Amino acid sequence: MLIVMNRQASEAQIEAACEVVRNLGLTPHTMPGASRTAIGITGNTGPIDSAVIEEIEGVQDVIRVTKPYKLVSREMQPDRTVVEVGKNIEIGGNKVVVIAGPCSLESPEQAMAIAHRVQAAGAVLFRGGAYKPRTSPYSFQGLGQEGLEILKTVREETGLAVCTEAVDEESLERIAEVSDIIQIGARNMYNYSFLKKVGRVNRPVLLKRGLSATLEEYLMAAEYVLSEGNRQVILCERGIRTFSDHSRNTFDIGVLPAIHSRSHLPVLADPSHAAGHREGVLPLALAAVAAGADGLIVEVHNRPEEALSDGAQSLYPDQFEGLVGQVSRVAAAIGRTV
Ligand code: PEP
Ligand code: MN
Repeated sequence: MLIVMNRQASEAQIEAACEVVRNLGLTPHTMPGASRTAIGITGNTGPIDSAVIEEIEGVQDVIRVTKPYKLVSREMQPDRTVVEVGKNIEIGGNKVVVIAGPCSLESPEQAMAIAHRVQAAGAVLFRGGAYKPRTSPYSFQGLGQEGLEILKTVREETGLAVCTEAVDEESLERIAEVSDIIQIGARNMYNYSFLKKVGRVNRPVLLKRGLSATLEEYLMAAEYVLSEGNRQVILCERGIRTFSDHSRNTFDIGVLPAIHSRSHLPVLADPSHAAGHREGVLPLALAAVAAGADGLIVEVHNRPEEALSDGAQSLYPDQFEGLVGQVSRVAAAIGRTV
């Protein structure tokens, strides 16, 4: 359920409404808007008697939320969320945000070389994995803490904001200290106890769609994070598993407008993990921006043939530069900038 306060409602009236909600054994989530405040209610297992709430002073409307996901829904918040990252990056605004970097951080030299190139080409965030969720236990698992030190250096020396994946509680704590965005990978989208912990961290979260998650399952995963208090969630379509075997995953282009119509959260596209090979990355990136993606996360490597993970899908820096140029033109065609 959603309480909409009237424009003139005072802070005291908003707090009084929250208190009534708490007394009903439910949880209020205050959502200040441009012209009025709304209060989302969660924790009910059945219908709530709205009459009690309608009588509270300052309440204009009480709306039933029909979807199983509440806090992430557009019913609860009609205005789109803009997630602020670092000092001056906004994800979910008019600007299409470009995140780029290697799949894995391999050495300070590798990271810096790539960071300088992607920054020059227009990326505003640098990505690089320190903790890698690999299919094989014998594959490179990431540099761990050493990788985070590299990430810190990239941040300091280039001024780029950074994004890296947390795979468990231990890495989450470490990453929350150094990374501007905490990435939660496709494999962890179903890890609900972990998502709750992520929800208690005060950092923007990039939550990737699970390998075979329906849209409802995906939005429910985001709901786990928001329900614990962290509203700075950015979604990311990275391709799902289908019978198509010409690409690593099948990029679900239709999910982008579907997300925007159901949720106020911003959504990025990861064309790299969808394509699985570098020739497939550019067309998916262009299509994603045309279909409403709020940004891209792209794997780039200075020597992809030597990469310790995902070399085949990593763009050469020159290719990435070309991609940003073309993406800018698609963005301009739909009234956005890069
Ligand atoms: C990655 O970004 O390198 C990654 C492992 O992505 P995903 O979780 O989408 O597979
Ligand atoms: Mn990767």
